[in-house]
Amino acid sequence: MSPLAPATVAVLCASLVLMWVYASLYRVEPTRAMRLWTAAWAALPLRYAMVLLAVVFAPSALLTITEHLLNLLMGLLLLWGTYAYIGKNPARVWLALFALGAVWAVVGTLVQMPFLPANLPVFLLLGTTRIVTGVAMLRAPPPRTTSSRVVGWVFILFGLHQMDYPFLRPVEWFAPWGYAFAAMLEVVIAVGILLAYFQQLHLRLIENERRLAEDVAERQRAEKAEHEQRVLAEALRDTAAALNSALDRQEVLRRILEHIARLVPHDAATITMTDAGVMRVVGSRGYAERGLEPLLDSLAFRLDDSPKFNRMVETGQPVIVNDVKQDRDWIDIPETRWIAAYLGAPIRVDGETIGFINLDSEMAGVFREQHAQTLRAFADQAGIALRNARLYDALRRQAAELEQRVSSRTAELERERAQLRAILDAMNEGVIGMIFGSEPDSIAYRYTNSALQRLTGYAPDEWDPKTIFIGNLSPDTFAASWNEMIRSVHASGTWTTETRARRKDGSEFDARLTVTRITSRDGHAEGVVSIIRDISQEKALAEQKANFVTRASHELRTPIANLKTRLYLLRKRPDEIDSHLRILDDVSDRLKHLVEDLLDLSRFERGTIQLKRRRVNLQEFVAALVELQQPEAELKQIHLSCHLPNLPIVLEIDPDRIHQVLTNLITNAIHYTPSGGSIRIEAEAEDGMVQIQVKDTGVGILPEHLPHIFEPFYRAMPEGGGMGLGLSIAREIAQLHDGDLTVTSEPGRGSCFSLRLPPSI
Ligand code: ADP
Repeated sequence: MSPLAPATVAVLCASLVLMWVYASLYRVEPTRAMRLWTAAWAALPLRYAMVLLAVVFAPSALLTITEHLLNLLMGLLLLWGTYAYIGKNPARVWLALFALGAVWAVVGTLVQMPFLPANLPVFLLLGTTRIVTGVAMLRAPPPRTTSSRVVGWVFILFGLHQMDYPFLRPVEWFAPWGYAFAAMLEVVIAVGILLAYFQQLHLRLIENERRLAEDVAERQRAEKAEHEQRVLAEALRDTAAALNSALDRQEVLRRILEHIARLVPHDAATITMTDAGVMRVVGSRGYAERGLEPLLDSLAFRLDDSPKFNRMVETGQPVIVNDVKQDRDWIDIPETRWIAAYLGAPIRVDGETIGFINLDSEMAGVFREQHAQTLRAFADQAGIALRNARLYDALRRQAAELEQRVSSRTAELERERAQLRAILDAMNEGVIGMIFGSEPDSIAYRYTNSALQRLTGYAPDEWDPKTIFIGNLSPDTFAASWNEMIRSVHASGTWTTETRARRKDGSEFDARLTVTRITSRDGHAEGVVSIIRDISQEKALAEQKANFVTRASHELRTPIANLKTRLYLLRKRPDEIDSHLRILDDVSDRLKHLVEDLLDLSRFERGTIQLKRRRVNLQEFVAALVELQQPEAELKQIHLSCHLPNLPIVLEIDPDRIHQVLTNLITNAIHYTPSGGSIRIEAEAEDGMVQIQVKDTGVGILPEHLPHIFEPFYRAMPEGGGMGLGLSIAREIAQLHDGDLTVTSEPGRGSCFSLRLPPSI
């Protein structure tokens, strides 16, 4: 066997490996170019098989022709595959070279036919074709992969391998090495192609991995986006719940700021509200820490001056300013130069923009579209919450106003009620108010004033008209009177009667009962008010008055009758004129006194008497007075004595009036003391008062007369004495001096009149 056989086997094996590699590459990259190249490399082992047959057996023309035809086929397939690989490459020059190389190879093969000796040009053509193909692959336009580069180099090596035939094969000793070199080259080529294959596979793997990684990343991104959406939805739900659960505006603003911090990253935030086209900051976060709250309080922007805010109002969309330095509308405030980025969204309620949420960041470029959309969704929630707060505010204000009105009205009613109660309690008349109940004869409410208790002695809950009234309203006749009262009250609105009443302690008084209807707004009787008046005193006064007039006229009639009698006697007995005139004088004096006394009394009653007070020494005053009365006492043989303290007592009195009082007392004492009796005038200071007593040993006064002797015209003994006016005038004078006049007496033993006067201060 020829020594060339092993080398040819090696080359054959190598070419088989090459074919396999290309077949695998085709599987990896089933392109047209790869298919053609695989086919080309399939021709190679066949060619070497021919070479091997020629070496093992004998070279024959058929084998050689077949080998060259296969070589030719391979060259054409390679050229075609290269053309398909390059495609419509604008580098036509390379195409031209391929064409040239292919033509050259075909022609070269033809000229290498057995009938032609092997020669240099044929191998040059074959080699050059492959080198040109290799260079073309290396220089092909991108994308150029490592495999295409390796294949390019493989072609170049192949070309060089072809070249060894014409140069080295003819050298006798080289021939076997030439085959070995060829085989080595084939191996190198095979390794190169293997490398290219693995690189292709590797690339494919990397690509697959990349795709997988991309798939995973894509899925992760989708999951993340979905998670973010979920978190956002949850946060918005929480926010909505939190915002809507608060109704106070300040609390809503605080919560808005707190929740927005969870949703969108930022360094500071403000909420501005528009009012009549002017924006003011109503809430902030992150500004207090920077000491900028006073600045925020003072800020006021006109909405028309800010295109950014206008845009938000018009579009309802948020605005991102990721670099405020680039924003021409940005209002530069020295204190807020730390703000690098801004994100704002309008707060809308029922399609109207009521304010804005503004987020500020110290870092430029932090706000993304996603943040803007989150803020927008949030601002919508905030809008609803603020609207609720606004409604609640209005409601609360109304409620407060109402409460204020109710409480001031209640206070007013309370005041009126208290006033009414005070008036009713201050009255001397007893008052009972009654509101009728829904049942006939029932009473829903009853009021009694404190005077009623004073008057009757019954507490409000003890009060029962049936036990109090007697006389015409006694229990027997009460029902009939009550019905009459109801009828009268319904008909004329009022009913009056006078009756006797009995107090709790059993004492009685005359009462006047006036019942008046309480009329409701719709005109029917709701209840009655009864006023009970104690008219005992009124009645007594009326009686007194009547008595007074009777007595006064009686007193006047007597002297007038005397006058008339005396005048008649004068006409009859003119000779006794002196005696008549004396009596007439007396009578007219008496009349004069009577009239003066009556006038005095009336003046005292009307309170028109003016005292002419001056300081008087009591001892001197009383001593002079007693001295004046002494002759009269002596005349009646009555011992009149005066006992005064040594220490001087000064009084500030109207001396004439007190003179009148004491004269009256001493005159009475002389008058009602029989001869031989005595009268003592004593004076002393006692209990802060000065007491002057006139004590006599006269007839005294019976106890039944004592309470009345100070009443006008009252006389304990009808015969003798005056008109019964002296003591009543004397007591009036004493009381006018803030003093008093009292009496004690023992019938048959004497009387003691005490005049008490305040001393001079
Ligand atoms: P008169 O002018 O009648 O004295 P007065 O008012 O001075 O009127 O006195 C009223 C009555 O009081 C007298 O009528 C008399 O009955 C009684 N009276 C007054 N002073 C004395 C007295 N000293 N002793 C007894 N009775 C007296």
